[in-house]
Amino acid sequence: MKSLILAIDQGTTSTRAIAFETAPEGGLRPVAVSQIALEQHFPHSGWVEHDAAEIWTATLQTCREVIRKAGGVWRFAAIGITNQRETSVLWDAATGEPLHRAIVWQDRRTAAATGKLAAAGHEPMVQAATGLILDPYFSASKFAWLLDAVPGARDRAAKGEVKVGTIETWLIWKLTAGTSHVTDATNASRTSLMDLATREWRSDLAELFHVPMAVLPEIRNCADRMGDCEPALLGAALPIHGAAGDQQAALVGHGALKAGDAKITYGTGAFLVANVGAAPVGSTSRLLGTLGYAVGEDAAYALEGSIFSAGSAIQWLRDGLKVITESRQSEAMAQGLKDNGGVYLVPGFTGLGAPWWEPEARGTITGLTRDSGPAHIVRAGLESLAYQTRDLLDALAKDGAPRLKVLKVDGGVTANAFAMQFVADICDLVVERPAFQEMTALGAAKLAALGVGLIGDLEDHPVDPPARWTPHMEAAERERLLKGWRGAVRAAIIAANPDEA
Ligand code: ADP
Repeated sequence: MKSLILAIDQGTTSTRAIAFETAPEGGLRPVAVSQIALEQHFPHSGWVEHDAAEIWTATLQTCREVIRKAGGVWRFAAIGITNQRETSVLWDAATGEPLHRAIVWQDRRTAAATGKLAAAGHEPMVQAATGLILDPYFSASKFAWLLDAVPGARDRAAKGEVKVGTIETWLIWKLTAGTSHVTDATNASRTSLMDLATREWRSDLAELFHVPMAVLPEIRNCADRMGDCEPALLGAALPIHGAAGDQQAALVGHGALKAGDAKITYGTGAFLVANVGAAPVGSTSRLLGTLGYAVGEDAAYALEGSIFSAGSAIQWLRDGLKVITESRQSEAMAQGLKDNGGVYLVPGFTGLGAPWWEPEARGTITGLTRDSGPAHIVRAGLESLAYQTRDLLDALAKDGAPRLKVLKVDGGVTANAFAMQFVADICDLVVERPAFQEMTALGAAKLAALGVGLIGDLEDHPVDPPARWTPHMEAAERERLLKGWRGAVRAAIIAANPDEA
């Protein structure tokens, strides 16, 4: 019986394929995995590129390996795709060859172009239409750059001879041997070209960003049939029946399906996505308005905020300051102290994001005394995860988002029980970590399983119970600590702008 789903998880540093089967409890569980690392290219300062052909080859290879490990393609019902968002590809429609390296989401080469649009006063309109601020992060300015950089591409675009797309669009094109040029609405919501409310491309935005409508893929919902695989590639014409950007797929993976549900992924950085319900919510705190998912008649919108340095603060304690030799040591060190001793670490290594938006801010340690030792700094590093999360949640509340009930977490840092308890205490919320951690791949698998009829809804049916942390801290203590944190953030901002102090 065809009961397996092949989830492709194309990330910034690796490409993975995971086979999921339906579990008797009703959810999905993994049965096989294959992974290949992806080379990063840094041709200039601020530029980050991937080889789209390498991404395709790795996808094919990991899919073939997982199909073999799982017992053959006849067992599979459908493919679901999740991907690094915003990364942009331009290719030749006739040959299927990339015409340039893919421009990765982190790439800042179009900062002048988006800065010019902001200076001309276009940001309020773009934000109202798309939920996004004007920033090189999003795909539209990257598409335009590619069309300008490749000789003849603009002329050929008008004739339909070249195509653009984000990574899921590129992979669907390759998997269907050039018969489907489609994107899903979550990935489209990261381009700056899609109207967030109608989930359609906007010709005025296409014109503003100088991206011809003719090169854009068709937008589909997240569990729609995106196309069928060319049978020669994987051994069968498997339908591609689900797609979503990685953070959105994680939201679905966590089963954060109702307004007030939210997930945060604590990796190198941290990404908060909060479900705000069936209609978009505009942000006054420069959080990003985005689509959580759209399936059939059902859509959930979200607000998103990111923390630039989360796990990277722990990496710095280990590799920079060398006060720990392994990340996990930080937990026992922090727990060995009765409190933070008044020490705060603001990990503004690459500036501060929402709600501060201080790109020039830098890391700061405050409150040192003669009694302060390495453990205080380690503890302050772990505590900073919670304070930064709280800042994002405060921004959400300010934007009128529904009050959160539970914060679902995943990512490497969630192995740290001290940090997770402190998040629960400072945010005054229950924190829940699922036993199975691959939320992104699970989300893609759920969407495809729903699309093909293997499961009836996107609800969470965990095979093992999650770990939970409940808040214990007194309100007065929380306020005292937050006051200390806010003072430290002010110090970090002042240090970056000494003339304004
Ligand atoms: P990414 O996907 O961004 O590479 P991961 O989800 O793999 O990140 O998480 C890796 C991060 O988690 C690293 O920055 C590491 O320092 C941090 N980390 C791993 N284990 C722990 C731990 N026990 N305590 C604190 N941080 C940890």
